[in-house]
Amino acid sequence: MIDRSPYLVGNWKMHKGAKESREFFRQLLGSPPTLSPALSHIWIAPPFTSIASAVESTRGSAIHIGAQNVSEHEEGAHTGEISLSMLWESGVTFVIVGHSERRNEFHEDSLVVHRKVIRALKGGMRVILCIGEQEEDYTQGKTWEVLSQQLNTGLGSLSYEVVKELLLIAYEPVWAIGSGQVATPDLVEGIHQRCRAFLQKKWGKPSALIPMLYGGSVGPHNLRSLLSQPHVDGVLIGGASLVVESFKKMIQSANEGGG
Ligand code: PEP
Repeated sequence: MIDRSPYLVGNWKMHKGAKESREFFRQLLGSPPTLSPALSHIWIAPPFTSIASAVESTRGSAIHIGAQNVSEHEEGAHTGEISLSMLWESGVTFVIVGHSERRNEFHEDSLVVHRKVIRALKGGMRVILCIGEQEEDYTQGKTWEVLSQQLNTGLGSLSYEVVKELLLIAYEPVWAIGSGQVATPDLVEGIHQRCRAFLQKKWGKPSALIPMLYGGSVGPHNLRSLLSQPHVDGVLIGGASLVVESFKKMIQSANEGGG
């Protein structure tokens, strides 16, 4: 049977050191950690230096810990970079690649993103590939032009065999991130359908199994309406994943009925 339980992925960005992460999970899971067998996939990406404490604090629970970035290189003179094998060693089970903050602040273009995607997938890591248009693209009606370019270059000529069971796509309109201005469920559904059609053209029917997430000002108040869309398989959550109470509410809400 196809697992259609929703994904709730928290991206903590540059928030919560090791101590604060431990406290978050203590409040979320109790001590020792428990979390009713998850009906949803609950994934959290803390900053690199909090990964070890997050992995330790969530051991025995259903939560997966991931990273917010990975180097395109395996090893070498790359000051400040973290390799895929270092992430594996630290207990990470997924990585976010191509977040708009990486693209915009750190000038990662789609080719860099592609090399990171290849590095992670070929190493067997689950990858959330983020795509999203800027506000001016959106107002000028260029959303699909931007997204299709990001998908095209980001995925390159990867075969379905390589991406199978490892790839997820997150649509995150940049104008909706951290702005409180959430995209409407209808808009998100329409974009996800186009992305699905793109993936289907590339890889055929099995591509329907690739989870499509939405990200941008998601919180307890709008989670249900987003998850109730047929092509929304989960959400990527920034700000609201930092607050235990709101994250708990979202887990409950997702577990209570697909949104
Ligand atoms: C994000 O940056 O991935 C994100 C979705 O942030 P927020 O939920 O705060 O808009």
